[in-house]
Amino acid sequence: MMKRTHLAALLLVPILKCGAGGDESRWYRGNTHTHTLWSDGDAPPEHAVKWYVDNDYDFLVLSDHNVMQQGERWFEITPDGRLTPAKTAALETDFGAEWVETRTTEDATEMRLRTLAELKSRFEKNDDFLLIPGEEVTDRYRLAEVHINAVNLEHSIEPQHGDSVEETIQNNLDAIRAHGVENDRSVLAHLNHPNFRGSLGVENLANMKGERFFEVYNGHRSVDNEGAKAKHSTEVLWDLALTRRLRDGAGDGEILFGLATDDAHDHYEVDAVSVPGRGWIMVRSKSLEADAIVDAMKRGDFYASSGVTLEDIVVTDDTMTVSIMTEPDVTYTTEFIGIMRGDDPDTTQPRVLASTTANPAVHRFSGDELYVRARVISDRPHPRPYAKGDFEQAWVQPTVVQERP
Ligand SMILES: [Zn+2]
Ligand SMILES: [Zn+2]
Repeated sequence: MMKRTHLAALLLVPILKCGAGGDESRWYRGNTHTHTLWSDGDAPPEHAVKWYVDNDYDFLVLSDHNVMQQGERWFEITPDGRLTPAKTAALETDFGAEWVETRTTEDATEMRLRTLAELKSRFEKNDDFLLIPGEEVTDRYRLAEVHINAVNLEHSIEPQHGDSVEETIQNNLDAIRAHGVENDRSVLAHLNHPNFRGSLGVENLANMKGERFFEVYNGHRSVDNEGAKAKHSTEVLWDLALTRRLRDGAGDGEILFGLATDDAHDHYEVDAVSVPGRGWIMVRSKSLEADAIVDAMKRGDFYASSGVTLEDIVVTDDTMTVSIMTEPDVTYTTEFIGIMRGDDPDTTQPRVLASTTANPAVHRFSGDELYVRARVISDRPHPRPYAKGDFEQAWVQPTVVQERP
């Protein structure tokens, strides 16, 4: 299996004290977006999960399209299909011959796909690894792809449809939220890859109500994070939507948080369209339980990463401080990005308010900022890049700045 030295550093994450009560919290690393043979991924779920376990992740959401890994499902084994004899042989090597359940019918030889419950009992360990049930609710309005990941579900949710892109998004967000209420679970929805097929725009991110997460970085190479084919990069979309929400009261006027995810479908290669290990989140939580992880995210106590690890993020009324877990011979540049209250409403580029290579990186608010967020860019190339020449990064969540009298 892959062993990469920079991931070893994650094992050294210190226990952090936070909150007035001094409760012990720590950072948990997870990916909320990965596909398996249950939908259009190329691997049996246990093969996909094993990679994340072996690569120092704490939690994972298998987010197949409109389906959860539940019930009895047989998948045909064919030399040129998605499940080949070589893949089942590899499973036997990794998990033992008795693990791989096959049957031969008149027409085909098939393997039974392992369910989430079986995967949980095989892989989960207390405070070491957690599988959070989820699904990529996959919907569409005309040519616009509306994909929303629902995290910590009890059972699968059907796409809800709608009479516009905005209504399609909102109907699905509402259904996911209702699912949480009905099942008494902390459920979270994140809007995926807004630039995929140029599907979503600023207003779609701005107008979401009742939920406030989106993918600022998705590791699948066809999603156009950089906005080459779309109008804006996902980062600019973030800033414009934040401005619409926080200044103009669009949506529910709440902040919008950004995630990095893999959206992995290709689990047997290092350099393919969508491989594991490109983007993840680090969540600061008191425990590795699904409700606790989701609740921490809802508080905004997480950051997105494609390789840079942070020691701490501290926001007070006056400052934002970002402490980086540095590694030898790597330079880190922290940019504090924001919109000033007096800025031209039609500003289309995020404004870098300050930039520093210091660690910790500290930004003192002037009080004129609407919000401030941070991005840490390293000069170390990403080992499994989304695009050639990518460097490892981290994205710190935006914070609303109090206006000074
Ligand atoms: Zn998708
Ligand atoms: Zn996906």
